[in-house]
Amino acid sequence: MQITLMQHTSLEICAHAIRTCWQSFENSDNGDIKDKELINRVGNKFKHSSTLEHLTYTFYISGISRALLQELARHRMASPSVKSTRYTLKELKDEDSFTDGLSAAELINKYKNPTEVYADKHMIRANKYLVFTDVLSVDFSSVIALENLRLILLDGIGNDKAKYCLPESYKTELTWTINARSLQNFINLRSSKSALWEIRNLSKELFNNLPKEHQYLFDQFIN
Ligand SMILES: Cc1cc2nc3c(=O)[nH]c(=O)nc-3n(C[C@H](O)[C@H](O)[C@H](O)COP(=O)(O)OP(=O)(O)OC[C@H]3O[C@@H](n4cnc5c(N)ncnc54)[C@H](O)[C@@H]3O)c2cc1C
Repeated sequence: MQITLMQHTSLEICAHAIRTCWQSFENSDNGDIKDKELINRVGNKFKHSSTLEHLTYTFYISGISRALLQELARHRMASPSVKSTRYTLKELKDEDSFTDGLSAAELINKYKNPTEVYADKHMIRANKYLVFTDVLSVDFSSVIALENLRLILLDGIGNDKAKYCLPESYKTELTWTINARSLQNFINLRSSKSALWEIRNLSKELFNNLPKEHQYLFDQFIN
C-alpha cells in the first residue's frame, strides 16, 4: 500500500479553538510547546475531545484491497472518495492473459518455490490489480478470478454487471479525510491484534505518515 498525506491542519488552529473557550489567545506560542501541551491536556486528558475535531488530515491511500475498503468504510466519522469500478474496470481490457489458460492447481505445479512464484512476470502484472497474501492457494485463486473478470469484460459484459465477480483482493484507492478525534478511534480499534492484518498495517502506516509534531496525540492509541 502507498499513503500520501495531502494536507493537514496546523496545531495552532486547534490551540486557537481551545483558547477561544478561555479567551487566552495571548498565551499561544503558535503551535509550539505550550500549545501542544494545551491540546493534549484538554483534548486527551480532560476528554474535551471535540476540540480535536479542528485538526483534519487528508490522505491518498492506494494499493489496498476491497476487503480492507469495506472495513474502512465502517468508520462513519471520515470522508472517503473511492476509485469507482463502474468507471475504471476497462483498465483490464488491455491486459494479456494472467494465467495462460492454467487452473489454480496447474499454476501451483508450474513453480518450484514461492520466490519463483512472485517473481514471475504474470504474477507481477496481476499484483498491479491484486493484494497478495503470501498464501499461494489464495493468491492463485485471486489470479484466476482476475483472469475470469478480464475474459468477461472482453466478452462485452458491462462494468455494472461484471464487477459482481471482483475478488475481494482487487486493489482500490481513495482520498480519505478524517479528523484527529476520529483518527484516534480508528488507530485504537484497527492497530489491535484482533483487527484484519491489512487494516492493522494501514493504521500503522497512517500513524507513520502523520506530521512528526502531531504523532504525540496518537501515541497512546497504538496497540
Ligand atoms: C476487531 C474488529 C472486529 C469487527 N468485526 C465486525 C463484524 O464482524 N461485523 C461488523 O459489522 N462490524 C465489525 N467491526 C466494525 C465495527 O463494528 C465498527 O463499525 C467499526 O470499527 C467503526 O467503529 P466506530 O463506530 O467506532 O467508528 P465511526 O463510525 O467512525 O464512529 C466514531 C464514533 O462516533 C460515535 N458514533 C458514530 N455513529 C454513532 C451512532 N449511530 N450512535 C452513537 N454513536 C455513534 C461512536 O462513539 C463511535 O465510536 C469490527 C471492528 C473491529 C475493530
